[in-house]
Formats: sequence, structure tokens, C-alpha cells
Amino acid sequence: MNAPIQAQRETRDYQASDAAHHIHAFLDQKALNAEGPRVIVGGERLHLWDNDGKRYLDGMSGLWCTNLGYGRKDLTAAATRQLEQLPYYNMFFHTTHPAVIELSELLFSLLPGHYSHAVYTNSGSEANEVLIRTVRRYWQILGKPEKRVMIGRWNGYHGSTLGATALGGMKFMHEMGGMLPDIAHIDEPYWFAQGGDLTPEEFGLRAARQLEEKILELGADKVAAFVAEPFQGAGGMIFPPESYWPEIQRICRKYDVLLCADEVIGGFGRTGEWFAHQHFGFEPDTLSIAKGLTSGYIPMGGLILSKRMAEVLVEQGGVFAHGLTYSGHPVAAAVAIANLKALRDEGVVAQVKADTGPYLQQCLREVFGNHPLVGDIQGVGMVAALQLAEDKVSRKRFANENDIAWRCRTIGFEEGVIIRSTLGRMIMAPALVANRSEIDELVAKTKKAVDRTAEELGRL
Ligand code: PMP
Repeated sequence: MNAPIQAQRETRDYQASDAAHHIHAFLDQKALNAEGPRVIVGGERLHLWDNDGKRYLDGMSGLWCTNLGYGRKDLTAAATRQLEQLPYYNMFFHTTHPAVIELSELLFSLLPGHYSHAVYTNSGSEANEVLIRTVRRYWQILGKPEKRVMIGRWNGYHGSTLGATALGGMKFMHEMGGMLPDIAHIDEPYWFAQGGDLTPEEFGLRAARQLEEKILELGADKVAAFVAEPFQGAGGMIFPPESYWPEIQRICRKYDVLLCADEVIGGFGRTGEWFAHQHFGFEPDTLSIAKGLTSGYIPMGGLILSKRMAEVLVEQGGVFAHGLTYSGHPVAAAVAIANLKALRDEGVVAQVKADTGPYLQQCLREVFGNHPLVGDIQGVGMVAALQLAEDKVSRKRFANENDIAWRCRTIGFEEGVIIRSTLGRMIMAPALVANRSEIDELVAKTKKAVDRTAEELGRL
């Protein structure tokens, strides 16, 4: 495959200008400027090209978002048509437009029947900001304004704006001014690291029961909602034991606490189900969505509400003083429609469940099941994590696992594959359209990266 784009400017010229003006996400800017970022200029299906013509297999769907892969002409055509017809209008002046109406129709035809309404945003972070306000407003309308504490999880991730940062459980983000009152956290269900002598099932129950303890400690009359990702994404693609979600749901119902799933990564087919909570078999009251909604071609997110919540907000709530200039943006909605139709009509989600998902998972287990650097493999559908470990049996993690995983990720770039490292886990989430040969390439290149890392450590 040749690079689809001819370089317009020298890479170092781009890098110098980027260093002069641009603050990047979650990076030490000074160190990045010294190194120079890769300049990515084009993409097709799962492949990306940098400005120097080097090709990468993108094992991360961008940031868990390009579910349909790169280069989809149907999505760009939908955007162009909408830009020409109506590039913008708002939702404030007693107005709406066909694109957002048709998006809602399509979305709720794909969602389980107990959801009925959406609030649209531009991102996942905003979806979770809206979540905090909507949940509190819901309890206010029901005459329980003191029910306002949101419980999240340590090492959960819900975005980078203030409310989403506080709701998430990234302590280093809290320490940078990212905390708010009336937000609490419980531990994550990370059996490999924290399970001790318990079986995964015992540990899953114990982790879930922390929620009950926290609700009792705070008082059920104070707790508005529990918010969590069905599987943790940015925290390391951590899959909870099977016992976890049913117990969480039981506890939420018992104490009348709303159960809110952050589906920003898990939504739109990642696990082989349309939404990750369907894979785990529980029924949240709200779903935060973004990323795969548009396959990342244009920013769009939203908060999906159950009929029960929507009825209270719509029938009893009066004015909800919330709105974004770009809520339900017509061009984003048009792209989302084209994206969802493709995921549905081309059988992409069905294929992840029946064929390519199991194939990826099987390949990873065959290749890494006995690898000297890998202690555990988790995942389903098109999402997986390799837990690096010093000793698999005792589940001993490397003291410097962060550095080792980062090194592995860097070697991955050299080998032409983009996988991510989170603590001691190598994580991947390729586009849902990946075929068997693209999966073979992903696994083979990842193996090279993990092997080279093991060689450097003298373990291979
Ligand atoms: N929730 C989850 C689970 C996420 O993974 C992310 C982003 N990685 C967000 C929310 C925030 O989304 P955004 O970056 O679009 O604001």
C-alpha cells in the first residue's frame, strides 16, 4: 500500500510550528517538543500514514473512535450534503431540523426499548457533564434535592472537563485542580492486581459490595447515581469478573440509586453488541455516548435517558436550563446517521460478534497465552488488553511496569503498529471493520513489539 498523500511541507517544519503554538493532550509538552510529534497525514481503513510516508496499522481506532476505519466516502458525502443544505442551526429558538430528528429515530431503533430520549453534546466529556446536571435535576424534580452525590470509581475515566474529571478516578487529574464536592469513589474491579487470594467471582462481588458500603456510609438519601464504564477503557481495558455487574445493579435498585453507564468507548459495536452493557447483561438508567457515534469523523456525543427518567424531566420538569450551541449539530447528525446505517446495514457489528471478534480474541490467546511477558489477556470483540507481568502464576507485576509498557508501545510504533500502554497493560481496539488479514497483521506486529521488549529485559 502506498502513502495516499504527498507531503506538503517538511516534517520538521510542521513540528517546529506545532511546538511553537500547540499544547497537546496528556503529554509533557517540553519533552514532546524535544522529540517532535509524528505528523499523521492520511488514513485508509485501518492504516495511517505519516508525513514521511511510513505506514502504521492503527490498533486503537484513533482513540477508540474510528469504528468504521478511515477513508469512508459515504460519511464524507453525508457531511458535504448537509453542509450544503443547512450547515448550522440551533435548538434554542423552538426549532429543530431533519438531521437530528432522523438521527434520534435511528439511534432509538438500535437501543434497547427502555430508552427514549437523548441530549446531544459534542464529546464524551460533555456527555458526562450533562449527566451530572441531569441526574441532580431528576432528583430535584422528584422532591429529593439532597440526593446529589455521584459515585464513580478509582481509575475510571469519564473525560477531561471539570465535572468529568472529578467523576473519573484518575488521582493525578484530581490533584491538578480537578475535584468537586459531592463526588465519591469506590475501587475498580481489577482482579489481576487486587484480587489477592479471591477467585475472580468472589472478588467481583466484593468489589461491587463496596458500592453498598459507600451508599450506606453517605446515606442512600444523599446518593444520586453510580457511574462507571462497563469495562474500563483509559484505565487499561479492565474487564470486571462476571459477578460484578449483576451485583452492582442489585445494589443500585435496592437503594434507589441511578445506574449510569459510560458507553463512550464500549458503545456502537466494540464488544460485538451494540452497547457494552448488553454484553455484560445489565440495564443502566443512562448511557453516555460519543466516539463511535460518528466513527470519530466529526465530534458528537450525547446522554441517553431511560423512559423513566425522561418522563420525569419532560412531563414534570419544566425548563431545564441547559444547552450547547452545537447540540445536535446538523452536520454531526448527518455523519452519525451515515455511520450508524453502515454499522447496521453492512453487518459490521454482527460480524464483530460472530466472526472477527472471536478471531481476534483467539489469535491473541494463541500467540500470547504462554508469552514470558504476558500474565493475563482480557477482552471481547474488538477490544483487548495484554497484562504484562513478572510472574503469571502469582500475578506479580513489574515494579516499573509503566516504563516497560511504554517501551513496548514505542517499539510498536517502530514496527508500524499503534497500540497503547496503560500502567502495565498493552491495550488495543482496532476498527470494527478489521478483516482477518488486518487482524493477523495487528497480532503479528504486536508480537514483534512484545517480543523485542521481552528480549531487552532478557526474558526471551
Ligand atoms: N468517557 C470515556 C469512557 C472515555 O474513554 C472518554 C475519552 N477517552 C470520555 C468519556 C471523554 O470523551 P471526550 O474525549 O470525547 O471528551
